Amino acid sequence: MELERYPKGGGRFAFRESGSTLPPIHRDEVGLQKTGERRRQLRLVSPERSEEPPRAINPFTPLGIRAGAARDWSGAGVAVESSLSFPATPRNDLAMTPLRLLPIALVLVALPARSQEYKSGINWPEPKVVTPGTLGGAPSDAIVLFDGKDLSAWKNGDKWIVADGVATAAKTGISTKESFGDCQFHIEWATPEKVEGKGQGRGNSGVYFMGRYELQVLDSFENPTYFDGQAGAIYKQFPPLVNASRKPGEWQAYDIIFTAPRFDSAGKLASPAHITALHNGVLIQNHAELKGGTFFDKPPSYAAHPPKGPIDLQYHGNPMRFRNIWVREIKPLVPSAK
Ligand code: MG
Repeated sequence: MELERYPKGGGRFAFRESGSTLPPIHRDEVGLQKTGERRRQLRLVSPERSEEPPRAINPFTPLGIRAGAARDWSGAGVAVESSLSFPATPRNDLAMTPLRLLPIALVLVALPARSQEYKSGINWPEPKVVTPGTLGGAPSDAIVLFDGKDLSAWKNGDKWIVADGVATAAKTGISTKESFGDCQFHIEWATPEKVEGKGQGRGNSGVYFMGRYELQVLDSFENPTYFDGQAGAIYKQFPPLVNASRKPGEWQAYDIIFTAPRFDSAGKLASPAHITALHNGVLIQNHAELKGGTFFDKPPSYAAHPPKGPIDLQYHGNPMRFRNIWVREIKPLVPSAK
């Protein structure tokens, strides 16, 4: 599109397309015209009907654009909404010359320099360096509960069978000798390769935090049961978000983050327990808020207990296999006073 000065040779303020019979366009709006925006509106505006030469309004704000500015300079009540305008200086010429872009460039260049870094002011201690384990292995700061050799870290550990680096459930459940509150827990387990039983009777065990809060272990590969009782369920409270079970006999893993409930001095619940869990690397519980202890024969409920308790592995009559069990106590970083 070619624009010509209007009136020819004289005015400084208006332009129109070559050969056009449409009213001329004020110079302020040429930039908009070139962008193709509001072309129709702009053509409604004729400086011929203006009582005074239009003045530019709202030069660039720091953000460069002012939306919604409106004006009426036609003298005939024709309002033009302008979202972008340029300062009117007689020497200004067409559209987006480099000089016109200069203010924008200056603003953009200036922006990073004007932002200031936020600092919390909290005096955090340096997080300790922890060497992660090899895939599935215990990190350097974990308490190893079973490394394939023996179950000496467990009460009743001698009732289970340990062979070839694997512990197989038998006779009774086992409990850690040590007590834990908030913790990260890793365990690998496999249901019997030879499928026997169905529903809750097939490959059943469970991880009980504080001896009370069970994340279900079950063979849930093509083995229907009630959803809040399948593998990865917080028993009778929440089904797993998805069923990430492997086939019977294959090794599977749980990585669980357990937050212990808190009770006040009167034994009243101050904050509930939470569980986040991954099954074979897949999120199955996302900070689920427990309604209390997990029971078979009654609704969940809380009863005050010490801040730490043992982790139990359930024996439910199935020869479940376990390996590579470790736990990390969660110790929050405590800022120091300045
Ligand atoms: Mg169970």
